[in-house]
Amino acid sequence: MDTCPNCGADLPKKAMACPECGSCEQTGWSEDAKSDALGLPDDSFDYEDYLKREFGPREVRPRGIRPLWWVTSILLLLAWLTWFFWR
Ligand SMILES: [Zn+2]
Repeated sequence: MDTCPNCGADLPKKAMACPECGSCEQTGWSEDAKSDALGLPDDSFDYEDYLKREFGPREVRPRGIRPLWWVTSILLLLAWLTWFFWR
């Protein structure tokens, strides 16, 4: 690749990113690279996406509780069975 597909600047032979506009192979040589690198919102500013990046995934995950519920249920069942058969 000799020139940047995004801005047309001359690139060094094995350039991993364009020195002019900052786009690179990982960003698909797009203009987004620039705004992402600068951390500035552009016209297509996605607030949901912003929240995800800043505060992590939005969904509240109760998965941390579930294993505890399983253990509790099984222990209760075992306790009940023990009481039922060996009383
Ligand atoms: Zn460029």
